[in-house]
Amino acid sequence: MSTLESSALWLFCTTLLGLGNTVGFHRLLTHRAFKASPPLRWLLTLLGAAHSGSPVFWVGLHRYHHARSDTEDDPHSPNIDGFWRGHTGWIIGTSHPLPCILFALSGFGQQAMILKHDLMRIIGQNPPTWRQITTDLMGERLMRFLDTPLVMPALFALQVWGVYTLFSWPGIAALWLSHRTLTNASWAINSICHWERFGVARYDTKEASRDVWWVAWFTNGEGYHNSHHRFPKSARHALHGGADFSWAVIQLLVSVRLASDPWLPRSFRDH
Ligand SMILES: [Zn+2]
Ligand SMILES: [Zn+2]
Repeated sequence: MSTLESSALWLFCTTLLGLGNTVGFHRLLTHRAFKASPPLRWLLTLLGAAHSGSPVFWVGLHRYHHARSDTEDDPHSPNIDGFWRGHTGWIIGTSHPLPCILFALSGFGQQAMILKHDLMRIIGQNPPTWRQITTDLMGERLMRFLDTPLVMPALFALQVWGVYTLFSWPGIAALWLSHRTLTNASWAINSICHWERFGVARYDTKEASRDVWWVAWFTNGEGYHNSHHRFPKSARHALHGGADFSWAVIQLLVSVRLASDPWLPRSFRDH
């Protein structure tokens, strides 16, 4: 495989995995912005889980973020204890920039924290409180299975094994770069898109969310975060124009009847 071909394959796979988070975990599972056929719902869920961990945990955390944005109770506000706390410090329990930056560069660091999170659950030190605000998902067998301790680390081990079998060590390096890119893209929404030095606040949403057009380019459209906080259920985040690849994918899925009922705010509907 040439360098160009392997780069194209990496970009394709990384984008596909990213859509599992943005279209799947975020717009479909958290905010129910559209409906998906069961096979599509399962596929998006597994693509997201490959790098973002348990969907039930992610959705619970994100719903909590919407309910408590930029208050002391927000799990990851950069406005409470600094930018780096909002980016990665909230995961590793520090506000010091150096460990936060090192963790951001670690690539598989999030997988290590998922393992720690599960081990703490097994010894009873991490009760699954997130299940209280995800009762809509807990009725699904796949969601319950993926939220079982050590299932996510097992899925990650399977990824590593599969990639190593197919592509050897260059494949592991590519997987590491994918995880590093995807985790930082997701964390950038929490840090950059809630930091007043960047972007614009189109709506007065009583918290610090921002629309940051350049973040949208590497997050499949999630950078229009102030518009998202104003209209959380909207399937389209770039309501005023701009790059929103997730919305383009949702429209494509609707056109081939794998998805339906994408929700838009009344004033942004065609008719
Ligand atoms: Zn937010
Ligand atoms: Zn959201």
